[in-house]
Amino acid sequence: MRFDDTFIEQVRSGISIVNLVGGYVRLQKKGKDYGALCPFHSEKTPSFTVSEAKQIFYCFGCGEGGDVFKFIMLMENLTFPESIHHLAESQGIPLPQSTKRDEAESEKRQRLLKILGIATQFFCQQLKGNKEALAYLKDRQITEETLHQFSIGYAPPGQHLLQELTRQGFDVQEVMACGLIKEGNSGQHYDNFRNRIMFPIHDLSRKTIAFGGRILGDGVPKYLNSPETALYSKSRNLYPLDLTRNEIRKRDFAIIVEGYTDCIIPFQFGVGNVVASLGTSLTENQVKVLGRYTRNVITNYDPDSAGTSATLRSINLFLEQGFRVNVLQLPTGEDPDTFLRKHGVEEYRERLKSSQSYLDFVLSEFMSNQRDPFSPKGKQEVISQILPYLVKIPNPIERAEYVTRIASRLQLDENLILLEMRKMPARRSTPRFNYSSPVERGTPAENTLLVAMLEEKWASQTFEQLEPELFEGLRTEKIFQCIFQLKEQGTEITTIRLRQLVSDDADRNLIEEMALRSADSPLSEEKIRNSVQELRRMKDERLIRQLQEEIKAEAKENSNSDKIAELMDQKVNLRRKMDKEQEEALTSSRRLP
Ligand SMILES: [Zn+2]
Repeated sequence: MRFDDTFIEQVRSGISIVNLVGGYVRLQKKGKDYGALCPFHSEKTPSFTVSEAKQIFYCFGCGEGGDVFKFIMLMENLTFPESIHHLAESQGIPLPQSTKRDEAESEKRQRLLKILGIATQFFCQQLKGNKEALAYLKDRQITEETLHQFSIGYAPPGQHLLQELTRQGFDVQEVMACGLIKEGNSGQHYDNFRNRIMFPIHDLSRKTIAFGGRILGDGVPKYLNSPETALYSKSRNLYPLDLTRNEIRKRDFAIIVEGYTDCIIPFQFGVGNVVASLGTSLTENQVKVLGRYTRNVITNYDPDSAGTSATLRSINLFLEQGFRVNVLQLPTGEDPDTFLRKHGVEEYRERLKSSQSYLDFVLSEFMSNQRDPFSPKGKQEVISQILPYLVKIPNPIERAEYVTRIASRLQLDENLILLEMRKMPARRSTPRFNYSSPVERGTPAENTLLVAMLEEKWASQTFEQLEPELFEGLRTEKIFQCIFQLKEQGTEITTIRLRQLVSDDADRNLIEEMALRSADSPLSEEKIRNSVQELRRMKDERLIRQLQEEIKAEAKENSNSDKIAELMDQKVNLRRKMDKEQEEALTSSRRLP
């Protein structure tokens, strides 16, 4: 459903962000604002701030921030329209007349969810009456309680589900859209899942959106998953995040495994911070979803070659998103499921504790791939394979430690590795989540002026001193363009309007950070004036550099001495003006008490 701006503002204006956030986390008054432990990353001292006056939240630790809609989107895993819907409903605001298409769309989704819900119940019911399936699950030590928690069921052979759903009034096309039935060559329909143990995949509100089915006995494929549907995208869902996300957040790390029972058995044994990527190929979207709960992972894929390449691939994805990664490799032939049942939870926890850093893992991998890793050629190859991983370590001390470690494992001079590292192209980008400085900021002068523009008390007198040219080429150029644009329209500048207008996420974060930073660094007329002066000086410096370039170009290309003299003149005058301004600034500051 689409909402127009008036409606969105109506919903927004009825909600206090402090009340909303206070319903999820414990807020403490901190000056004008409120502080709390961040619900989006794990921390011991509060860096999460909520401002009633500005109606925004911001975390100085992880950089998450936004308005009431953004908060509820992150907290409840909703899309933007869903968050509006949710907040309108919570206030009893009637939804605007939606278009026919919206209504049809939403009705269709509801029907699909209903079918999948009925299918879940149907499979659970079938399991109760099937001795063979029950015996299989019992043999794998899955308890009644676990069966219930995970809504595990059984799909009988034949077309019983299709019959049941048609009996309840659903048509074949709808059931097909859920991925539950298939069409045969001659147009007949049959159940997609037959003679399989069924594992429902839930969304975060515990509604079934898809299934995974394991064949009972022999048969291919061993595992069968629902196809992509309007409700389910394999690349965006982690199993069973609805059950394990709180534990992941609490323990601040997640164990990444391959399959259904690799999650279910640890969960049953009390290891509740586990998720499966469902299949061996973890996706960037899955990593991002997980990033809402933690930035620390231990991968625990099967110790076979498919598992090893899955581990290598996942390491890269996690590092790109700024995760810390450890690798747990169980003895050959063991996955988390079999290992826990054989050796118990204490032994598994020990293994988790002694899991190795991803770099030790890749080093061993690359060395074992070489026929002779200690020959000059072997060493060279291992080094070139491992360098891309090495340069991804953000902490220089840790990086240096690894260089030493690699050097000693390869019996090589450390300096040779450092030399190779320097040849590498500069790191592509800092990880998106850099805890010490989540947002790239502008110069102090730019930041002061941005803060001033977001404070009602200072905004208009600050604006009078500004001109767009001051920000040319600077970090905050685009943000100030938006400020000038708002002013031109005669619109009052508020944090929320400004963050709506900027197009870039990094800009949005910077605005939020600055809006909340103002509380602890009081502004003054002098501070604002000095900042404007600083930007003028920077602009003049830019001009001088530009003139210098022109002079150089002129001398090289035309050697037109008149032109050169004119440019020199301009440059000298500009420099003189700058010196004079600086002297004035100094004397005026000396005059102050
Ligand atoms: Zn945070």
